[in-house]
Amino acid sequence: MKGIFCAKCFTIRSLSVIDREPVICQCGNLRGWWIDGKKGIARFLALDREAGFMIGWNNRYLHGIVDLFQQGAGSDAMVRELHKLATDAPGFHFDKDRKACWSIILRPGMSSDTAWATEDEQRAAGLIPESDG
Ligand SMILES: [Zn+2]
Repeated sequence: MKGIFCAKCFTIRSLSVIDREPVICQCGNLRGWWIDGKKGIARFLALDREAGFMIGWNNRYLHGIVDLFQQGAGSDAMVRELHKLATDAPGFHFDKDRKACWSIILRPGMSSDTAWATEDEQRAAGLIPESDG
């Protein structure tokens, strides 16, 4: 799962479940949306890029936490075990040899499936009006 993290207003918000539907932070600096949510491809747009971040959450961890609590479980040991599973993700930023965390913060473009949006991508998300011509 991916979201926006704005360092101006400290809004953290997950991306919309609908492709090409931007979410925006509270101060209006940062937007983010899925180009293709199924493939995990997201785009971001910021007035001030220095304050614009992508936040990512490991899906295995999130689903695992829900399962644990729904089963009335969730001891510290079980959560640690789940953390171990979530950070066994070779090639991903979550991996124990990289960030070693189920939650990561990156600049758009630091992962292959995120980037700052091009003009065409902004237009496809309805952020720039279609040209008259
Ligand atoms: Zn903001």
